[in-house]
Amino acid sequence: MWNNCIQLHAKQSKGCTPRFSVANERKIGLAWQQSLHSVNCQFKSGRYKLYDELLTGGRGQKPATTNVALQIVLQDSAISNTKMCYLLTSVNVPPLSRRRMQKNSQHGRQHKCTACNG
Ligand SMILES: [Zn+2]
Repeated sequence: MWNNCIQLHAKQSKGCTPRFSVANERKIGLAWQQSLHSVNCQFKSGRYKLYDELLTGGRGQKPATTNVALQIVLQDSAISNTKMCYLLTSVNVPPLSRRRMQKNSQHGRQHKCTACNG
């Protein structure tokens, strides 16, 4: 993200000494999307996904591998999704919706064998 933004900024805003600031941040469970903007000019990058996506073959937003990995770990632990929501909220991470967590859990069951050879 940083390297791309520095190159884009150099092409689009000639003569500006970049001083980037994070903007347009979006948290999706444990995964984040961010964009950068230059404080000294009007440059604003597109939003970058700071996570890998799980290739599901379906339509719509692809789940972040970190969120699916969390569901895989939760399946083998005594911590429920409700308790994990409390835990994430207490550390200022907005938890996913219950529906999204269930979908990630389904993806986790499907991909568990390839993810951990288990
Ligand atoms: Zn600039």
